[in-house]
Amino acid sequence: MEPANIARKISPSLTLAIDSKAKALKAEGKDICGFGAGEPDIDTPDHIKLAAAQALAEGFTKYTPSSGIPELRQAIAEKLKSDNNLDYKPNQVIVSCGAKHSCYNAILATCNPGDEVIIPAPYWVSYTEMVKLAGAEPYIVKTKAENGYKMTPEELQASISPSSKMVILNTPGNPTGSVYTENELAALVEIALEDDLFILSDEIYEKIIYDGAKHFSIASMSKQVYDHTITVNGFSKSYSMTGWRLGYLAAPESIARAVDSIQSHSTSNPTSFAQKGAVAALRDSQDCVTDMLKSFEKRRNIMYEGLTSTAGVTCVKPMGAFYMLPDISSFGMTSSQFCETLLEQALVAAVPGIAFGDDRTIRFSYACSNENIEKGISRFKDFCARLKK
Ligand SMILES: *Cc1c(COP(=O)(O)O)cnc(C)c1O
Repeated sequence: MEPANIARKISPSLTLAIDSKAKALKAEGKDICGFGAGEPDIDTPDHIKLAAAQALAEGFTKYTPSSGIPELRQAIAEKLKSDNNLDYKPNQVIVSCGAKHSCYNAILATCNPGDEVIIPAPYWVSYTEMVKLAGAEPYIVKTKAENGYKMTPEELQASISPSSKMVILNTPGNPTGSVYTENELAALVEIALEDDLFILSDEIYEKIIYDGAKHFSIASMSKQVYDHTITVNGFSKSYSMTGWRLGYLAAPESIARAVDSIQSHSTSNPTSFAQKGAVAALRDSQDCVTDMLKSFEKRRNIMYEGLTSTAGVTCVKPMGAFYMLPDISSFGMTSSQFCETLLEQALVAAVPGIAFGDDRTIRFSYACSNENIEKGISRFKDFCARLKK
């Protein structure tokens, strides 16, 4: 018996493969510095946990409407207005089991078999595989380090074909840390609209942004852009709620309705009591977000300083999210060989860039303690110095 063709086209997540190897070494008692994680290291803030615990205690344990509880969709619509200058009615907001699920639903609701989806690389691992699961084809645009790993209008223009259906933009970006400015987005959007493309705007790292850079929501640009854009966001990164599995999208009504139908026949509603926690996350004080941002910024500075002072390594300074993408191509190894050797010899876990469509780099997450960063970077420096000998 063989799995279906579509299932065979999907690669297992490389980020998880390195993670299992690091965990196995840890279990053997090895002192591993983990830079592999794609999630904040801090716990979910107490007031959010309390709201969910209370909902459980009160018996809020049944199915909810498939697209989420009205209270949460209302809170999200208000957040999108006040933070992002976006006018969505609650019925245009669909809450799903994580922003990953929202992206997948958005692609399923818009792309037909044979359609091409334009994805700038380095990209978040799941976009390409989600596109393939929908029967569509990823079209990868390699961006350049000297452009801060941001796709230029010329690069976008050159990638458009009669089959193009959608372009995925992720700002602040994983794994690049790139943040597009309003003007840069306007230039890309102009080209996308000329060809009537959908724009999937993944804004999950919106709150994790440094040096006074400003996050700009694409759909707020004009009515025409709004009609072509699906805005995705969630709770995992801003509120450290990765395990809760809650995210959302907001879209023109016809798309929102299609997403609701898809979801109603696949997962039904996101977890009932988790949604009550999300309401608290949006409605209560945002101090937890500001505090987290302060500690990420410190860690970013420590890691960036360490990487850019390592011989043979170059690195674009990330303006958002919590990843760094050092270029290790001067060592003459593939990113997978480099990461495997780094883990075995220096006990530092990182993710090979090939997972993100870029074999010249590896990804370090700095969502970990300052001590872990200092120890890990010092080992990395020694490791690179040994390679250069
Ligand atoms: C983490 C992440 C997501 C999804 O997070 P969920 O936990 O599914 O909400 C989406 N996009 C990017 C780029 C991410 O890094």
